[in-house]
Amino acid sequence: MSAIEWGYGINAPRTMDLDRNDIGPAREILAEMPEWGACIACGGCTATCTAGNLTSFNFRRVHTLVKRGEYAGAWAEMNKCMLCGKCRLVCPRGINTRGVVRLIKRKLGDY
Ligand code: SF4
Ligand code: SF4
Repeated sequence: MSAIEWGYGINAPRTMDLDRNDIGPAREILAEMPEWGACIACGGCTATCTAGNLTSFNFRRVHTLVKRGEYAGAWAEMNKCMLCGKCRLVCPRGINTRGVVRLIKRKLGDY
């Protein structure tokens, strides 16, 4: 008997062990940009992102993962940012989001 094709599947589990992640670089970024800690992950930055309209770039996703110590691919993703500054204009917490982009690029080049 063949398996039924339902047209959808169950996502693979993706858990994070925050105790095992190296959050040193994320703490360095937070030390230089404390306001980043006030992010409420609302997604306004991603919704308005110029690069996100043209590519798969999702700024909120990347910087939220970085904050949790998940750095893989973050530097490469941030290279898609054009530093246009629109995200900063809409951020309800007034975060210097362009500064976050630049710090991630500076601190995470090795990841
Ligand atoms: S718009 Fe500001 S508060 Fe909202 S997810 Fe982006 S950085 Fe965080
Ligand atoms: S500065 Fe970068 S992350 Fe922010 S809206 Fe522009 S392209 Fe997107």
